[in-house]
Amino acid sequence: MNAYEYADSHRAEFLEELKDFLRIPSISTLPEHKDDMQRAAQWVADQLKMAGMERVEIFPTPGHPIVYANWNGAPGAPTVLIYGHYDVQPVDPLDEWQTPPFEPTLRGDDLVARGASDDKGQVFVHIKVVEALRQAYNGKLPLNIRFLIEGEEEVSSKHLDDFIHAHQDLLRADATVISDGAILSPDQPSIVYGLRGMTYMEIEVKGPRSDLHSGGYGGTVHNPAQALCEIIAALHNPDNSVAVPGFYDKVRPLDPAERAALAKVPFTVEEWQRQTGAPQPWGEAEYTLHERIGARPTLEVNGLISGFTGVGSKTVLPARALAKISCRLVPDQDPFEVEELVRARVRALTPPDVTSEVRGLNYAYPSVVPINSPAMDVAIAAYERGFGARPVFMREGGTLPIVATLQHLFNAPVLLIGFGLHDDNAHAPNEKFWLTGFYKGITTSIALLEGLSKIPVKTG
Ligand SMILES: [Zn+2]
Repeated sequence: MNAYEYADSHRAEFLEELKDFLRIPSISTLPEHKDDMQRAAQWVADQLKMAGMERVEIFPTPGHPIVYANWNGAPGAPTVLIYGHYDVQPVDPLDEWQTPPFEPTLRGDDLVARGASDDKGQVFVHIKVVEALRQAYNGKLPLNIRFLIEGEEEVSSKHLDDFIHAHQDLLRADATVISDGAILSPDQPSIVYGLRGMTYMEIEVKGPRSDLHSGGYGGTVHNPAQALCEIIAALHNPDNSVAVPGFYDKVRPLDPAERAALAKVPFTVEEWQRQTGAPQPWGEAEYTLHERIGARPTLEVNGLISGFTGVGSKTVLPARALAKISCRLVPDQDPFEVEELVRARVRALTPPDVTSEVRGLNYAYPSVVPINSPAMDVAIAAYERGFGARPVFMREGGTLPIVATLQHLFNAPVLLIGFGLHDDNAHAPNEKFWLTGFYKGITTSIALLEGLSKIPVKTG
């Protein structure tokens, strides 16, 4: 029996097991679920043992445990690392759920439960595929496999980076597979190959020692709120590009082939309008909407705080003003360098009648996985086998720091192979995972792992 046949003939069992996984309320952010987190980690570890992994270990962290497993019985063959997470988002507002969030319920083709799509269902696909491959290969596997399943993804993976850096030898791989996202539509698979990085800062402008009466001093003091607005207004050019010297120096230009590939993903102004409700798009006119979101860096004001913001009026001249600013970054920008560039620009823009300070808060590196690589060719073929269609390539505007971390550390491709849909209600009430995607995902993952067993080996 090959792996596809094994998986097909075990669909009912796989579904029942997935339901067991979904019944564990592993909400990482809520302290009252600490025991459930432990239970979910143990459940994953038990599944990995049943699937035939040799070494299975639950590593404690200062937060929730990390489940690690490996099978190293294919010397000379490539090694693939599979990353996912067993923690889930809180369920509120609970009264908007049509069925209890931790009682998985079948509704047509959808399995409804918190974590069904993000990420338990997608993690489970790969665990079952390893089990299927082991049956097909007489108790062995055609390649070496490592699993890294964390419990803190929904609380910004607080302890993951330290773990990865401390356990590089356990994790090193020729390719990493992450299934924690959505494809473009049920009939159109897609591969996200670019993610933006981030520098998050706050700018504080100070003027007088304390708030002043605007009648007594207005007209003689450079109002810090106004000075901050003047500084912020000068951070963009009239063409909507970022007016920070050096900001674009390391931005990798889009080549024509990549622009052509991105243009295959339809994103019209009408669709953009439907999603945002804003009157019309803004940004760098020479780039498409998809390019502006995925392949161009930005500087955004996330919040402004100053003076009196209550109901009614208070004639105050505020002593200070604060702006939260974030820059979304693209390769090869460095988040720490960007912070210094913005700091220098704000310093230069600060008039002598106020003072300013730029404080860095968060940093994440951007990443782009090369489209042309043996691993990516395997991913394309795997989606074709699983979904019957060639995937399109996408860049996303968001940030997934682990992609850049693993890519830099191991210099190996990270394949973002999602099986969910954009309307899965991840993080929202009535989260679901479409069973068609679950089974097509299993087929895709079998083709992916069998294909990756033949790529060139670097790990030795
Ligand atoms: Zn997730």
